[in-house]
Amino acid sequence: MNRKITIAIDGYSSTGKSTIAKQLAKELGYVYVDSGAMYRAMTLFAMKEKYVGENFLDRASLIHNLDKASLRFQFNEALGFAEMYLNNENVEREIRTLEVSNLVSKIAAISEVRKKLVAIQKEIGKNKGVVMDGRDIGTVVFKDAELKLFMTSSAETRAQRRFKELIEKGEKVTYEEVLENVVERDRVDTTRKDSPLLKADDAVEVDNSNLTKEAQFEMILKLAKEKLGNI
Ligand code: C5P
Repeated sequence: MNRKITIAIDGYSSTGKSTIAKQLAKELGYVYVDSGAMYRAMTLFAMKEKYVGENFLDRASLIHNLDKASLRFQFNEALGFAEMYLNNENVEREIRTLEVSNLVSKIAAISEVRKKLVAIQKEIGKNKGVVMDGRDIGTVVFKDAELKLFMTSSAETRAQRRFKELIEKGEKVTYEEVLENVVERDRVDTTRKDSPLLKADDAVEVDNSNLTKEAQFEMILKLAKEKLGNI
């Protein structure tokens, strides 16, 4: 089967978008792209340059210096997915901290940042055969994606998952802090002016609060195969 489709996965934070995206990409031999990692890397850049912090945002300087942040993905054979590099440094670990999570939505609301990242995302996906997850993939980046998914689950379920992940990575965080971050990010992401998180009309909504990973994968793979049979 050499016909390829584009799969766009959007949804609230910590709904397991990347898990299903990685599974699908592996099964179909497609490229997985974590667009959130790009917004996180831009946030790390802004933090390092002191353009953003807990109580400040120097929007103008960030916009003026956007060209100084060079982003690329590099496939890691051992892990089976591509890792994020910022100015040639592997930042995969640093971008997953709660500190970055607490600032990323502020940076992602800046139109100039979105324009830069959307252009890279479109370029990566121009030949199809891509599974990309994020917030605006089905509504802005790949409006013509053959399969669009919109992932949801309760805030508490999501915070539990994210809390467990962070603790396993050795971060010192509390469940309450993580829950607060999940709720606040959803609020900023859904209410921003440019490309707010919303379900595309033609997206399939998947609420995985009570679904096992296996059941979810089986259901979504079936949807992808139906689409592949139809093109
Ligand atoms: O997917 P992840 O939770 O890592 O994304 C981090 C943040 O990046 C989101 O909360 C959102 O603010 C931003 N984002 C976005 N558009 C995307 C992907 C992520 O605005 N396509």
